[in-house]
Amino acid sequence: MNPRLQIWHPFTQEALDPPPIRVTRAEGVYLHTDDGRRLIDGISSWWVNLHGHGHPAIVSAIAQQAARVDHVLLAGFTHQAVEELRDGLQKILPGQLAHIFFSDNGSTAVEVALKMAVQYWKNTECPEKKLLVGLDHAYHGDTAGAMSVGADSSFTAPFRDLLFPVHRIPSAYCYRCPVGKTRPTCAIDCVAPLQRLLEEKHSEIAAVIVEPLLQGAGGMIVHPVEFLQRVRQLCSDFGVLLIADEVLTGFGRCGKMFACELAGVVPDLMCLSKGLTGGVLPMGATLCTHEIHEAFVGPDRARTFYHGHSYTGNPLAAAAAVASLQIFEREPVFERIEAISRIHRERLAAIRNHPAVGDVRSIGTVAAIELRAEDAGYASKLRPVLYKFFLDAGVLLRPLGNVVYVLPPYVIAPEQLHYIHDLIAESLRLCGVPPLG
Ligand code: PLP
Repeated sequence: MNPRLQIWHPFTQEALDPPPIRVTRAEGVYLHTDDGRRLIDGISSWWVNLHGHGHPAIVSAIAQQAARVDHVLLAGFTHQAVEELRDGLQKILPGQLAHIFFSDNGSTAVEVALKMAVQYWKNTECPEKKLLVGLDHAYHGDTAGAMSVGADSSFTAPFRDLLFPVHRIPSAYCYRCPVGKTRPTCAIDCVAPLQRLLEEKHSEIAAVIVEPLLQGAGGMIVHPVEFLQRVRQLCSDFGVLLIADEVLTGFGRCGKMFACELAGVVPDLMCLSKGLTGGVLPMGATLCTHEIHEAFVGPDRARTFYHGHSYTGNPLAAAAAVASLQIFEREPVFERIEAISRIHRERLAAIRNHPAVGDVRSIGTVAAIELRAEDAGYASKLRPVLYKFFLDAGVLLRPLGNVVYVLPPYVIAPEQLHYIHDLIAESLRLCGVPPLG
């Protein structure tokens, strides 16, 4: 008999990591495990869940949709769920984003945006504009194009030869300022390399891609709003498209429905996923302006955007997304978000001067603590120690190297969130404190 088929779990190494935890039920902020534990999902199951697990409105929308139309292709066909989703998104998105293209996940939403940007310039007789610009510390997904625009890291290292070249510009990582400033002396000088690049090479550049205001996987790095505003302005001045990857930041995560709103910025292309369906089913979407879409319309077939996934616009995912948007209308979601944000700020202020803490940062429902431990990077020695410490105390947190962060479902109760912050404060005793300087 063949050996039993094994599940290959992402990011894990059998030789190094503990066996996977078996979840038997997910409800609200809790994950119930088969050994009788109850874990608070402090990272919204990889940053997707918004309204708690098993929200009855989303569960019932999926069940009803499954009985009506389970799945149908979106090439040459349409259905009620995807149209309702279009209408729901229209209410919350800036009017300039007039077209929506569906895919399956965050990486594909990014791939679509990159391909649209490049083909847009081809279709408008500027084929030389085909290069892309990404930020240091960026993460946009694990497919080849998304890895190319993401920062070089241990995740991308084995594939370096496969990735296309991208212009790289500094991130507004204030704690490790790329130009050696501090906030009081800073005039967003870190944007100067982008300005120089666009001055010299704008005729070759198709688009700049950013994670607006919050670089997630790079270490929950929060940017000043002025950085995003300056990037937007430079893109407009030099005729380069701006792609906002709101895969993580969308749907209230940063305090407004979209992070771009906090900076008063409208991108030319926007990528959505994760919270789009309330975090229940996979779905991606890429939005673009009317002007971009127009470039793909005409009697010449070669103008067509030849990209489509089997499950594009899946009716079950669309129904879940519609139900999630309705929850924003029916429940006090932004009050919950504000309450989380207040607790984060209070609790971070209380530990910011601890000797083990290098930096604290927060935006909306996300709080992060960058520890001063000596070995930084995803594979830091502290990471597994902290991961186990939090799990043993009943909380799922997955530090990014030496950055501990909290990113909970919006329905987390104040006492549950305080409990997580209590644990983080307690965990600081596990962190060695390297000498300053
Ligand atoms: N873009 C950003 C900003 C992300 O944080 C992620 C995932 O964490 C992705 C894209 C990729 O999304 P997915 O994992 O759904 O492919």
